This record gives sequence, structure tokens and C-alpha cells, in this order.
Amino acid sequence: MIEDSHNSRTNLSELGEFGLIDLLTKNLAVKLPSTIKGIGDDAAVMDFKDQKTIISTDLLVEGVHFDLAYMPLKHLGYKAVMVNLSDIYAMNATATQVTVSLAVSNRFPVEALEELYSGIELASKIYNVDVVGGDTTSSTKGLLISVTAIGKASLEEIVYRNGAKPNDLLVVTGDLGAAYMGLQILEREKEVFKVNPNSQPDLDAYTYLIERQLKPEARKDVPPMLKELGVLPTSMIDISDGLSSEIIHLCKNSKTGVNLFEEKIPLDPAVISACEEFEIDSTTIALSGGEDYELLFTVSQTDFDKIKGNPHFSIIGHMTEEREGMHLVTRANAKIPLIAKGWNAMEREED
Ligand SMILES: [Mg+2]
Repeated sequence: MIEDSHNSRTNLSELGEFGLIDLLTKNLAVKLPSTIKGIGDDAAVMDFKDQKTIISTDLLVEGVHFDLAYMPLKHLGYKAVMVNLSDIYAMNATATQVTVSLAVSNRFPVEALEELYSGIELASKIYNVDVVGGDTTSSTKGLLISVTAIGKASLEEIVYRNGAKPNDLLVVTGDLGAAYMGLQILEREKEVFKVNPNSQPDLDAYTYLIERQLKPEARKDVPPMLKELGVLPTSMIDISDGLSSEIIHLCKNSKTGVNLFEEKIPLDPAVISACEEFEIDSTTIALSGGEDYELLFTVSQTDFDKIKGNPHFSIIGHMTEEREGMHLVTRANAKIPLIAKGWNAMEREED
């Protein structure tokens, strides 16, 4: 998706590093009062008054985390920001600034990087964050993107992974497994395209799944929603690797066990039908698929009335004493140990 969509092709060396940075960042105006100094000096300056600063970084590597054969650069820029904002929201905080660093090989023309930055710019507008710095350098092969997200929260609002107590309810936002099934669809189309480059894929039936993979949205709405409901989670994490491994993180950090109920795991109908088509178990996909960028949290039983019936939330289980272990309770009422199986492990298994 690099060469095809561009008629003009300006070599990176024509602009030089500073020319390139000027070009890429020219539309990134500072919006927030907490940004004292954005791009244009040796470092950015922020002021959060009496609030705490929350920082998170992620590195995305071509061929490891994304494949440009089906990932448009604009979407990649958007997703790189989302992945990081999601971690800020997972602390029950407000995201405020990001920095973006790129390493690019000269196979990317300037126009491709402008495309990438248009996605970053769109994300920063929609999510109301300032892009306050970064770096651009050359790489011998491929594309690397590192985004650092900065946010704020008052000390009392910050939610860690380690506060869950036995009997707390386990809650997840949205639905699970769609991003992974979107990836399966895209991988399949890529193979079809290799055999027949003239094939016109009909992906209408998979719109939701593909969008969840290519253009995920972080749950910016959840921390303010919880505040409005008067709910302070006892622990929280975002779902990047898959439900089971995130639950295990909460349990290990909080020193609890868990009972997760299979029948309560929220699945979109599109995930269920794609799983039937691919002949894979939808629970496995929800547990191990990953990249959903939903939030997983625990709340005290006394908050049950505030959470139940809310269309954004599903109560999927409850925490137990650590010695009781971590279990999935199946639809057939069998109790099986919960194991962490990230999506890498799953891909190896399919080989
Ligand atoms: Mg995370």
C-alpha cells in the first residue's frame, strides 16, 4: 500500500531530516492548556498542576506488529496512537500528549510518511491530544514507529492492576475477538491476491471485523463514564494481548484467583459467524485473539447496580481467593484452568 496509491514520489533525501519534520508536523497545532511548549524546541514542556503524570510507550515494528500489504499507512498512524492511548485510559487517566518517533528506510517516499502522519493527526484531533515531539531517523530495512503517550489523573483516580479483591466483579467493555478475526480475513485476502492479482475481494460482510483490526478505537469514553456512575475500579488493564492473559495479569498483580464464565464473554454476531466460517472456536478467539483495546476491570460487589444493564459493560466473572486458582467456567459448567495464550502462541499452534 505504499507505491500504488501515490503518483508523486519525493525521495526522503530531497528534504533532509529537518525539512521532513517541518513538513510532517505543519498541521499539528497545540490545543491543550497543559501543553506549555510543543514541537520546536529541544524538549516539550507540560503543566498538569496538581495532577499526576502518566506515561506509556510502545514500539511497532514492520513485519512483527503490522504488514503493509494490507495495512494502509494512514490506518497505521492512527493505530499506533490508539495502542498507546489505550494504556493511558487503562490507568483511568486522561490522555493529553503524544510523541511519535519513526525509523524509515528509503523505500518510503515523503508522500508515504505524509499519509502515515495524516492518521496520527486524525487520531490526535478525535482523541484531543497534542503531538508534542518525536524523532525521525533512517533505518536500513522497514518501518518502526514508537509512540509515547502522556496523560494525567489525580492520585485518587489512578487505577492499577493490583487492587482486585476476592468477590470483586470482573467487567469488560465492548466485545472481543473482532480484531483477530479481521486479521484472519485480511490474511486470507492477501493469499487470494497473490494467486490472482485481479481478484476484487468482497469484504462487505466483514466490515466490522476489518475496522476493528485496521482502525481500532481506544476507550476514551470509559474513565469519564465510570466517574459519572460513581465507580472507581479496584484494578484495570487494557486488552492488547487477549482476554485470558490480561485476566491473569490482574490476578497475579492482585494476588487473587478468578472464575470467568464462558457464556458471559461478549461476542459480536460478526465474530460468531466468521468463527463458524473459519471453523475456530469463538471462545478461544476472545480469550487469545488480542488487539481489541477494550478495558478489563474489577469493581466491588457493592457497585453491581451501577454496572449491570449498562450496554458498554459485561460482567464476565468474579475474583476469588488466590488459592482457588484461575478458571474458565464453560457453558457445560466444567471448570478448566485459564492459561495465557497470546496470539503469537496461537499462530505457532496453527503451523
Ligand atoms: Mg496495556
